[in-house]
Amino acid sequence: MNWIEGKKIWFNGEFVDWKDAKINVLSHVVHYGSSIFEGLRCYSTPQGPAVFRLQDHTRRMFDSAKIYRMEIPYTQDEFNEAIVSTVGINKFDSCYIRPIVFRGFAQLGVNPLNCPVDCVVAAWTWGSYVSEEALEKGADVCTSSWNRMRPNTLPALAKAGGNYLNSQLIKMEALANGYEEGIALDHAGLISEGSGENLFLVRDGVLYTTPRSASILGGITRDSIMVLAKDMGIEVVEENIPREMLYIADEVFFSGTAAEITPIRSVDRIQVGAGKRGPITEKLQKAFFDIANGKVEDRHSWLTHVK
Ligand code: PMP
Repeated sequence: MNWIEGKKIWFNGEFVDWKDAKINVLSHVVHYGSSIFEGLRCYSTPQGPAVFRLQDHTRRMFDSAKIYRMEIPYTQDEFNEAIVSTVGINKFDSCYIRPIVFRGFAQLGVNPLNCPVDCVVAAWTWGSYVSEEALEKGADVCTSSWNRMRPNTLPALAKAGGNYLNSQLIKMEALANGYEEGIALDHAGLISEGSGENLFLVRDGVLYTTPRSASILGGITRDSIMVLAKDMGIEVVEENIPREMLYIADEVFFSGTAAEITPIRSVDRIQVGAGKRGPITEKLQKAFFDIANGKVEDRHSWLTHVK
């Protein structure tokens, strides 16, 4: 994974040097995972850098904060502005952007309400998340022995730091067993999502994805794919999917800001379809990248250009 860090980080309203963006080791977030965050991509377009679905990411971050009773001391517009300025000040043409809001340092009880809410936006360049090769050839993945969080334990719709302990277990187990990624099932044994990606499958030309009730994060790439598929006249079905559908699907792919649209060529060493990126996956990938890279009209107003 190619990574080049930015020079400046937006920290509580001011830009500081990357190396100076530090927190106290006794901050609440370090001990109790009390953060909520976002991951966005800024793509290079003929009109300059453009952030993909900025307002939707910021809205989801404010939703995550609301679930955890965190008061963000900025408006969504101010946060949008901070995100765009972070790309601008670092002079990136394309990059990955990480806004994060966390409980800082005051006192170390479990109760977070007395701790300050600190806000950060950082950016860096990040290539393909699974692997460059996988974007074309497809990834080899497994179903995880770890389930996603049961409803009413850790809320999956909040993009909260603590949820990523579950993601880490899924990812580490997959890597240890020689796979690139794991697909987790939900509490009922039905498909949920990957450690950091939503999941789609295609069978007989219909596109299926798992519902919000399957302990998924409501992905913004997932939403974009559903919109693009409908634009193309592809039927989209959001429903509970049993594990074995992974083996008999014609095509399976992951979606996510980092993973973008990553085809899956095998699950549990069982070949999916023809064992390579399928035609619908390829069509959706092209439609997605054409909009993100400003090659076609931005008909859904998904791009925010960085001046
Ligand atoms: N699920 C999880 C657990 C994730 O971390 C992500 C990445 N944010 C996704 C799904 C995909 O969401 P998005 O398309 O908004 O990046």
